[in-house]
Parts: sequence; C-alpha cells; structure tokens
Amino acid sequence: MPTIDRNPTRLVQIGSTAIGGGRPVLVQSMCATKTSDVEATVEQVEHLDKAGAGVVRIAVDTPRDARALAEIRDRSMANLSVDLQENYRVAKEVAPLVDKIRYNPGHLYHHEPDRPWQDKVRFLADTAAAADCAIRVGVNCGSVDPAIQNRFEADDSIGPMLASALEHCEFLDSIGFRRYCVSLKDSDPAKVIEANRRFAVQRPDVPLHLGVTEAGMPPEGIVKTRIALERLLSEGIGDTLRVSLTVPNSQKHQEIEAGRQILADVAAGNFQTPAQIAEATTPGRLNIISCPSCSRVQNGDFVELAQQIREMTAYAAQYPITIAVMGCRVNGPGETDDADLGVWCGPTQVNLKRRGEKVGSFNYDEILEKLREELDKLIGELQNSPER
Ligand code: SF4
Repeated sequence: MPTIDRNPTRLVQIGSTAIGGGRPVLVQSMCATKTSDVEATVEQVEHLDKAGAGVVRIAVDTPRDARALAEIRDRSMANLSVDLQENYRVAKEVAPLVDKIRYNPGHLYHHEPDRPWQDKVRFLADTAAAADCAIRVGVNCGSVDPAIQNRFEADDSIGPMLASALEHCEFLDSIGFRRYCVSLKDSDPAKVIEANRRFAVQRPDVPLHLGVTEAGMPPEGIVKTRIALERLLSEGIGDTLRVSLTVPNSQKHQEIEAGRQILADVAAGNFQTPAQIAEATTPGRLNIISCPSCSRVQNGDFVELAQQIREMTAYAAQYPITIAVMGCRVNGPGETDDADLGVWCGPTQVNLKRRGEKVGSFNYDEILEKLREELDKLIGELQNSPER
C-alpha cells in the first residue's frame, strides 16, 4: 500500500505495534459483543485481528468484565485496548491484561466527584506505566466534562473538546507520562476536521486517533467518515483511525476494510466526489446518526432497530431533521441531546427524546410507531414554518 506523509508525532508503542513516529497509519476497531461472553468476544477479536485490525478495543465496566478479559487475553495474541467509562478504578485490574487504556475525560467526574480529576488521571497513568500500557485520551462531543463545558458558550462544541484534550495532555506531560495519544470525535465530519486541525497546530507532537463518532450505517457512515479522514490524512494529520459503523457483529470487519480503503485512496489521491459528499452532508436533509454498538448495548436488537429506523424514516429524506440512535444509557442520553429526535436502548424499553425533552419509554415493538408520530409532528412544524 502506498504511504502517506505524516506529521512528526512521537512514537507510542502499543503491544507489538506502534503509532506515530513516522509509522504507517494503524487501522483499529472495537468489539460489540458482551465482554462477559468470553466465547463470542474471543471470536470477534480474532475476526477483527484477521481482517487487519492493529489494535482491538474491548469495553470493561465491571469486575465481571475484568475477569472475562483475563480469559480473552489468554486466548488471543491481538493487541488489546480497554475502553473505560465511569468506573476508572477498574483499570488496576485490567491494565496488566491489555496494551492500551482509553479513558474519556468527560466521564471521570461520575465516580468520587469530590476527588480532583488530576488524582484520577495520575492513578491511570501510574497504572498504565506499571503495566507497560499506552493511554488514549478519548474526548467525545457528547460527553465533555461539564466543568469545561461551562467555560464556553452553549453553541461552541469544538472549544470544550479541544480545551479538555489539551488540559489532559498538559497534565500527563507534567507527571512525566508521555506514552499517550488523543482523539477528538464528533458525529459531524466538519467538526472532526476543525477540532483535529486545531489540536495538531497546538500539539504537533501528540499522535492522533481519528474517527467520526456515531457515523451510522454503511454506506452513509463510511461516506461521513471519509469526508473527515480524507481531509485530515492528506494534511498529514492522524496516526491511527477507526471507522465506526452500525453493523451486525458478523459484519464488523467492514470497519477495517473501510479504514484500509480510505488509506489506500488517500495515498493514491482518490477522493470522494463533491456529489457524494453533498449526498451525505447537505444541510436540509434527514440525518441519521447511530452508534457502532459495543459491549454496553443493552439489547441485542439495537442494530436491527437502527436499520428499521432508517427504513421507516426514508419518507422524510428531504427534511432537515437529525435522528440519533444509541445503544445504551451510558452515552445515549448525552449523545442524543443535540438531535431533533433521540432514541437510546434499555434492556426491555427504548427511550425517546424530542429536542432534549424526554417523550417516554416504549417497548421495542412500539417505538417505531411512536418515533413516526414525533417525526410527523416535526415535519408538520417545518411545513408551517414562515421561513419555509
Ligand atoms: S452509545 Fe453505548 S452502546 Fe453505543 S457505542 Fe456508545 S457506549 Fe457503546
């Protein structure tokens, strides 16, 4: 595969592989199986590893997940990353089992809210160093630390993400931990481009993990991701990437194939046409964002529901409405805040929100009808709007 010229970021070793330091861009992915289901997770790790994933990420929230991870580690040679959310202390048990720890600065305040975030990051850095692990500071548009968010205007989503990432880099540097990379993800490709460009100007030394979060189902999810990654990679920005797609577990290799194709096309100078970009991003069209699912999905019907929602809403394609479809309560409530209609899945019920206000919780066999009712109301409002 032809190579792409890279910014001179520092080398970060992750198990048997590395990012930055002039290395080729690494494609990675994440398991969507229940981590506690060792058989299914080992199978998916191997599936992704064989497809070419340089690192495979696994979510761990509970001691049960941590015990399962020990078995998964024993049965796989893949480079593993662990995804922490609110329960950052579980890092102590899992760091010796993996090659990288991903933490989200926006989730650190949930546990022990009176303990300064700096203490928690020091704990994570000390734990990673003792276990010979790298760290990713993974900042996400829908879950920025409220203390940082409050310093910015409500409609500024890039400033808080950037400030959070820079603050954590500065702190990790100050305590002598340098084996880290950063990600700044949003579901809007234009914001991903701007956030990563601004970060790369201020911290050209720090390797960047690129991705468009909740890009959705293929082919639209791949097009959205390409819009951001083609631009950034061709500017020398980005050391590793993930194409996050809402697909069934058996199709997760599509994330790797799409990532490798983007790299090959950027290296060869083959970019998407303006028509393809307009089709996926033109304001004034229905936009469905959906999470790629992970171990935290609370009902296995999530991916099918996302596909049904896309089919059911096809009649509204010409309306400027955003629908967010999320798999769990961890990120669902926050990541649906900016959407016109938001859906996130619980074990037996699906929660529906309209412009930040909860509409209700509905059974899986009721939600499509309820969503359609709300969608029709929004369309009615748009049709009666004097600006139309
Ligand atoms: S919204 Fe929940 S289920 Fe979906 S990827 Fe994020 S954490 Fe996983």
